[in-house]
Amino acid sequence: MLTQHLPAPSVTLYARLRERWNAGIPCPSDIAFVFGVSLLWLLFYNARFWQLTLAAMWHPSVGSVVFLTTLFALTLSLQAILLLIWPTRLLMRVAASLLFVIAAFGSYFCSEYGVIMNKEMMRNVLQTDTAEVGALLNPELWLHVTLFGLLPAMLVWRVRLPRTPYKGQLRQRALAILGALAISLLSVFASSANYASFFREHKPVRFTLSPSAEVISMAGLLAVTKDKTNAPLIDPGGRVERMAAAAPKPLVMFLVIGETARAANFQLGGYSRETNPELSHIAGVTYFWNTTSCGTSTAISVPCLFSHLPRSDFKVDQAGRYTNLLDSLVKAGFDLEWRDNNSGCKGVCARVASFDYCKGSDCFDDVMLADLPARLEKITRDTVIVFHQKGSHGPAYFERYPAEFEKFQPACRSNQLQHCTTQEITNAYDNTLVYTDHMLARQIAMLQSAAPRLDGLLIYVSDHGESLGENGIYLHGMPYAFAPALQKQVPMLMWMSESYARRARLNAGCIQTEAALPVSHDFFYHTVLGAAEVRDQVYDRHLDLVSGCRKGGGGE
Ligand SMILES: [Zn+2]
Repeated sequence: MLTQHLPAPSVTLYARLRERWNAGIPCPSDIAFVFGVSLLWLLFYNARFWQLTLAAMWHPSVGSVVFLTTLFALTLSLQAILLLIWPTRLLMRVAASLLFVIAAFGSYFCSEYGVIMNKEMMRNVLQTDTAEVGALLNPELWLHVTLFGLLPAMLVWRVRLPRTPYKGQLRQRALAILGALAISLLSVFASSANYASFFREHKPVRFTLSPSAEVISMAGLLAVTKDKTNAPLIDPGGRVERMAAAAPKPLVMFLVIGETARAANFQLGGYSRETNPELSHIAGVTYFWNTTSCGTSTAISVPCLFSHLPRSDFKVDQAGRYTNLLDSLVKAGFDLEWRDNNSGCKGVCARVASFDYCKGSDCFDDVMLADLPARLEKITRDTVIVFHQKGSHGPAYFERYPAEFEKFQPACRSNQLQHCTTQEITNAYDNTLVYTDHMLARQIAMLQSAAPRLDGLLIYVSDHGESLGENGIYLHGMPYAFAPALQKQVPMLMWMSESYARRARLNAGCIQTEAALPVSHDFFYHTVLGAAEVRDQVYDRHLDLVSGCRKGGGGE
């Protein structure tokens, strides 16, 4: 057989791989499989977790070494439990496959964007839309998920476990769970002072542990969501009164809910670059210099803005149980509509007309303005129009504005921010603000040109700020207590037509003075009611930024 033809090398390689694949991966027991998988997660999916842990807890001391060793044992055991709880091998493999994919996504976003996988992040994941997801996808992410998610998810099914009677498997897993719990308890006892500090002072770190952070946060979120099904709607606003006599012209209020605009980059708030080239030349614009947001994500801030509750009492899980600002305005006789170019109104517009202006892919915010002049022509009664912008939503800032608004160059043209310089990221982000500036100026111009027939008022406020890489943190959504101020300080401004100011008897100088004081999203509900000259049962004059500025009566 010396003259036998050798097969082509590629065939050999393919045949070998196939043979290898068919042979599977031998594994001595279920327990070895489970701890092996858990070890892989700790070593290859948790760079951010270990990086943050070392930054928070490492000192060159024996105590520190003991802590880190026990933390390794603790996290290894706890994540193993995620696989041990299943009653059959089939379910255990299904769980392992899914968790590999989840861990692959989680580790990518934790490492690349510094995000953490808490309940709020899971809420964002559930409430997102295809455009938002599309903006995050990139070839590197796909490669990462294929190598670290899909490949191991398939290999899980090639692991050859020994034949063990079913009862024996169950007994093994039960013992392993007890063992894992014992190791966890011993670990915590061995270094309890360090754990106390780790859990109390460095809370966000544990939300980067993949895949358990994603699983636990999602379970927590689903538990509270299930809780509130079919609870009756509570109407805190109750009876509503109009405070003003009938005016000759209808009032039109534009409420513009911005997206991801941070106060630090607003020229009106003192930023050195020209990000408000148009608004800074418009008379009647009042900028509120020190405004704090209610949350660091759209899913919290938007319902909070329209809720009567202050941030301290607001619970996003409960928000859907209450009527909100829009309901009180409708009761007061206002015509109301919600225009959306974002990922929906988060339940706020449940009982009013709402229009999704972007069908399909990404749209610029001006999509909400095309039919606006015609709409204004037809207005014959008091009207509130809410505009929910796409604003400065990242990471693809460069996709938020048309080419002619690329004022600052070079702009980062990738959704992988870590591949751009800080300057390029800032340029792209600032361009989004220039575009928002233009949008607001156009909206004001439309109200101005309708001034002979309508009294116009515009209030703009952003839902939360943004991190642009400061201390390695990007985007937004950090837990409020730990979030940098950049994610919480937002721009807010008000513009009123001369005829509105006369009608409402407002003292413009007084409002300018109020605008220097620290305010927050808490003021929005009451200020909008105040500006509309409406009172409901929860209206609070102290949180109304216009009531104190009425000439004669009303004011203080
Ligand atoms: Zn947002």
